[in-house]
Order: sequence, then C-alpha cells, then structure tokens
Amino acid sequence: MDEAVVLRVRGRVQGVGFRPVVFRLARGLGLRGWVRNDASGAEVALGGAAEAIARFQAELPGLLPAAARVEAIAGGAAGVELPPGFEIRSSAEGAGARVALVLPDLATCPACLAEVMNPRDRRHRYPFTNCTHCGPRFSIVEQLPYDRAHTTMKGFEMCAACAAEYRDPADRRFHAQPNACPVCGPRLTWAGPAGEALAEGDEALRAAAAALGRGRIVAVKGLGGFHLMADARDGAAVRRLRERKRRDEKPFALMFPSREAIEAACEVSAAEGGWLESQAAPIVLLRRRGGGDDLAAEVAPGLPWLGAMLPYTPLHHLLMAELGFAVVATSGNISDEPICIDNAEALERLGGIADFFLLHDRPIVRPMDDSVLAVCEGGPIMMRRGRGLAPGTIALPGAPDGWLGGGAQMKNTVAVTAGGNAVLGPHIGDLDHDGAARLWPQTVRDLLDLHGLTLERAAADLHPDYASSRGAAGLCAAPELVQHHHAHIAAVMAEHGLEGPVLGIAWDGTGLGDDGTIWGGEFLVCTRAEYRRAAWLRPFSLAGGDAAAKEPRRAALGVLREMGSAAPAPGLSAEEAAALEGLLRGGLNVARTSSAGRLFDAVAALLGVCQVMAHEGQAAMRLEALAGEVAAPAYPFGWRGNELDWQPMMEELLAGGEEPAVAAARFHAMLVEMMVAAARREGLADVCLSGGCFQNRRLTAGAARRLAEEGFRVWRHRDIPPNDGGIALGQLAVAAARAGRKTAGRACQGGGDRA
Ligand code: ZN
Ligand code: ZN
Ligand code: FE
Repeated sequence: MDEAVVLRVRGRVQGVGFRPVVFRLARGLGLRGWVRNDASGAEVALGGAAEAIARFQAELPGLLPAAARVEAIAGGAAGVELPPGFEIRSSAEGAGARVALVLPDLATCPACLAEVMNPRDRRHRYPFTNCTHCGPRFSIVEQLPYDRAHTTMKGFEMCAACAAEYRDPADRRFHAQPNACPVCGPRLTWAGPAGEALAEGDEALRAAAAALGRGRIVAVKGLGGFHLMADARDGAAVRRLRERKRRDEKPFALMFPSREAIEAACEVSAAEGGWLESQAAPIVLLRRRGGGDDLAAEVAPGLPWLGAMLPYTPLHHLLMAELGFAVVATSGNISDEPICIDNAEALERLGGIADFFLLHDRPIVRPMDDSVLAVCEGGPIMMRRGRGLAPGTIALPGAPDGWLGGGAQMKNTVAVTAGGNAVLGPHIGDLDHDGAARLWPQTVRDLLDLHGLTLERAAADLHPDYASSRGAAGLCAAPELVQHHHAHIAAVMAEHGLEGPVLGIAWDGTGLGDDGTIWGGEFLVCTRAEYRRAAWLRPFSLAGGDAAAKEPRRAALGVLREMGSAAPAPGLSAEEAAALEGLLRGGLNVARTSSAGRLFDAVAALLGVCQVMAHEGQAAMRLEALAGEVAAPAYPFGWRGNELDWQPMMEELLAGGEEPAVAAARFHAMLVEMMVAAARREGLADVCLSGGCFQNRRLTAGAARRLAEEGFRVWRHRDIPPNDGGIALGQLAVAAARAGRKTAGRACQGGGDRA
C-alpha cells in the first residue's frame, strides 16, 4: 500500500523555516523521505501510506510560516531511494535559472526581542540575534540557494550552543542561516573618525548612545547600510548634519524608540501602525500633530509630515532603548549617493560627516536604503522600495527568463525576469549621480547572477540619454524601447494582472514622448504591448533646459505666456524675465511639455509657495500641504481638441481674491475633474493611475474616489512605486507582451554599440 511522491514547492520557501515545518509534519504522519532547498524553491520526497501522503498535502499549506508563499505544488511520481526516516538534506545544485525567491530582510520578531531584553538569556543585549522568523536575508545572501555558506555569515563558525539550535528541528533557530550569539557571532566596534577602535561589544553600544546624547553625529552600520544619526531634539546637531551631508531642506527620516513615541508626535492610523510594526519596517510618512513634540524644527522644515520608523534590528532596539528619544536616521551618504555598506568605505566617505562610527563585522552584500511609503485611503503609496521590501516579485506569466528592465533616470530601479516573475531590485537612486550610475551595472549583474540568469534581452526607456538606456544598450543589442508613460501604466497593469485596454492616467514630472516633446500629463489607452495617446494636458513652454525643471517660477512664466498673459512672473527679476522671454520667443533652449508636475510647479510659483526648488518635488509637496484638508469646488477647465485646458483655471486663479489654501484645494479638485472628464470621454471601465504625481495623497485619494463614483474601476499601485521606481517593471511587462506576439525574439548579442 506504500506510495512515493516528490513535491516541488516554488516561491518564498527559503529562509523562512519551511523545511522544519515539513520535517515536523512528515514525521508526525509517519512518512519517510526528505526535504531540501533547490534552485527553484524546495523539493519534498515522501514515502508511506497513501492516506498519510494525502494528509500531508492537505495540511502543508496551512502550516507554512507567515512569510512563505507557495506558488505551485506539482506532483511527480518518484523513482527515488527513500531513507528509513525523514531527514533534511543539504541543498541541491540544480541547472537552469535559480528562481527561488529570495526574501527581503525581516525586522526582529517578538521572540528574539524578548531574549535580547532578558538578562537571564544567553543572548541578552546581543545586537545580532535572529531566528527563522526574522533577521537579515537579502542583505547577506551572496548566491542561492539560501544556505549559511552562501551568506556573509560564512566567516563565523557557530559555537556548540548555536550549532545545537541549528540542528534541532524543534528549535526556532533550526536552519536559521544567520544564527549567532555573543560567543560566536558578529561584534560591535566603537570607532573614532579615523577608524581607531575605542570600545567593543556592549561598551561600544553604550558609547554610541552617550555620544548621540551629547549632540554628536554617529554613523551606525545597520542592515542595508549605514545610517547617519543625530539627536532629533537637538537643532544644532541636526543643522550640523545637514551642512556636512550637503542636504538642503529635504525632510530627514526619524527612528523613534517606540510606537508610543511616534504617536506623541504624529497621527497614526491603523494601517499606518500596521506598516510601522510590519516585518518590512519601512519609513512611514505621517501627519505631525501640530506642536507639543520636542523635535527640532530643522528635522522637516515647512512640511506637515514626518518620516518615521521603528527599530528593526536588535542593534537598533538596544540603541533606541538606551536613548529613549528620537534620532534622525538618514542614509549614510553625501547628498543622493548610494548608501555606504562597507566599514572602510564608510570611514572614508562619511569621515567628514560623522564624529564617531558604530561598526560591526558582518559584511553587507548590497546597499539598501530604508523603504519609504505613505498610506492613502487605507492602501500604501510606495515611495521607495529598499530594505525590507526588496527583492520583490510581480508575476509576469509567460515572460522568458533573463530579460532586463533598465528603469528610468531618476529613482532608478532595475528588474529581471525569472521563472515567470519580474524580480525587482532595491532602489538605486538618481543616475545623474556618479555613485548611483556605478551601482546600476553592479545591481544588474547581481540580480542576474543571484538567480543564475544569462542576460537575454533588455528593455529601456525611449529617452536615449538616460544612463539606464545607455547601460541597457551597452549590455544588449537593440533594447526594446518603451515609452516612459506607457511603462508607468504597464506597471500598474502587471501588478493587477490587467491586459487592457485600460485608460492609463500617467502624470509625472517628465518623460520623453514619441513626438520628441516632454510628456507628463498623459491619458493613454493601453494594452500591455501598445498605447494610444488619447488626451493630454495642454502643453506650454519651459525656457532654459534642465534648470527649468528645478524652478517653478519658469513654469509660471511659460504658463502665463502660453495663455497670452503679459503678467509678470513671480520670483523673477526684470532682467531674468527678459532673458527667459527672449528664449521663449526664439524657441532656442526651450522645451514644450504637457507635464502635470510642471503645472503643479507653475501654480506653486503663482501662489507664492515655491519659486526655486531645493529638492525634486518640493513645490508639489508644498502645494499639497497648503491645500491640507480644505474642501473647495474645482476650478473650471476646458477642452481644446484632445488637450485638457487649464487656462480657465489660471484666469480665475490670477484674478485672485482667494486664500492660497483654497486656491490650492481648488487646483487639486480641478485636476481630479479633468481625469473624470477624460475617463468619461474614453468610456473604458478600467482606469489605471501612475506617475510621480500620484505620490500626492490628496490627488490620489480624490481621483480614486471621484472615478469610482462615476462607475470606473480604479487601479492604483500597491507594491510598486507610482514614481519612476516602477518603470523597470513596466518596461518588462511591455517587452514581454510584445515578444508574446512576435514569432521569434532576438537573443542578446552582447554590446550594442555597433547598432
Ligand atoms: Zn526572531
Ligand atoms: Zn553561538
Ligand atoms: Fe515618470
């Protein structure tokens, strides 16, 4: 009556305690066989009574650890030798793409935290405590399968006590690859600016806390890289950090000692609290409670939101418990360069910023900034996917392995296809910066190697000057070119499994259109493979090239002249205005744009909110903040052919007489009504929202609500940023759909420079 079967389990099963679960279940049912990780996930061989095998298959899904995701279980008859009992075997080296999904790093679980805080536990105050439910994953894995020998823990030999836990199927640390304790694991070092060691272990941690309390800037090596930390209550310390880091007014993220401490400073909804305490432990943008907190004004000047996070490793828990107050915890870098991960590199690059260094000797494989999100109408708006969320996967059924989506220029991420998924790498950054530009090819190589992939094809933005477009062309002849806003919408479609046609509303700052002008206020009727530009915001001219995108006053000038108004533009001297108007008249160094982002800029300038931006998106953020919770009717607008015309709005706005907050609210409402009007005109049931403008919660919430009221199905991003961090996924979705229709794809020929 004995039967045998082999199960192949795919999905997130490595590094989440999957094998112990299988082990216990199989033993409990009296089954023989084994379980092992393989390149695609895990393999389970079972022998025994047919009834027991059936029960195993029925019960397994319900017993999986929270972080596990089994995508398919396909049976296969076994001609395999089964041992007399059940055992956990070492990993199989398989051929083909390693599509087992690597897990992101997981925030410390309650059981580990309790041990760290328990004076009688052998891991009391040990900053590198972890188990199968928590701890480092993607930041330490060098290759798959996920075994200790393939992580940066390979240099630490487990002591007898740790090894016993690791081998004991009943233990929480059974096969916990980064398992460690104070006897055998990584250690802290407290170092001065030249790298000289001043203290070790717990003394190092206490020294860091003391220095922060004295207003010093401390570089702290964490999970995905270094943070620069400073007492968030200490205006002088925060100011010094801004100066040394060459950071303008852009808000700093804060790490708080507890949920209660966050709630003292900010309003926290149930959904926001859920994210704060999730194992992804991202930075969550929260609305500040006006006044009453002890945070320095320098932390987030002029904005009503605060980026807050909770400690997510034992190191951070111990440090924050010691401090008892919030600290600035900003990426360890200068301006927008990639975050530092290496001790020597940090000492060199951060030496001019940090007064001290809290180091450790567990190497970090790849830089990962903290993830950032906001909650809108109960759902997340991803701003940045990094530590805790990357790598992520979105199903792209039928997509061949080894394709690359090169991403955009700003907020770049890359993605590759593996096993019918797009695997999305962590946030890289703005490729205008050398450091990020250097990280781009490294990340591409890393994602391919990690999954055992050979690069077959690449997809890239239509813009030939994006570093990612050049990079993709350098790696692969004739990349599939994808229009920027089509990629935005295709990313939403991929997330929700939509094939189209949908009406895609793609609003952002800039993206090259197929007519050579700058797009950014687009209504595209999309399938995954194709799009038609159905409508767009009325274009206007921007004088002065790249600088125009940083100066809302130039957008205001362009809008005024476009509508034939001779009114003086705000924030420009007579001479500056004359020079720019000369450019506008001559048409030289002038770009036409339908960008919604630039329209935000123009309105911000006209309302006196922002003339020159210190950082990207500042004007729109201020306008959103200004509108606050004000309810006001939409400004009027019109149609000119396929163009949605903002001139009626501008005329009313310029006529004045309204509070700036009311004007800002009416502007937001008008944009929403423009979307409704375009959706009605096209008459498609599904409307997809994407592009950087949908980081604006007021705009997103308004659009989602009004379009739903009008009977449309509204699709927003869920796991993917609406900003250019989502472009890589969209490029792959478009390329895969187009390839599906062609008879034969062209294999990658290596460098495409000759093309
Ligand atoms: Zn744990
Ligand atoms: Zn140990
Ligand atoms: Fe964009």
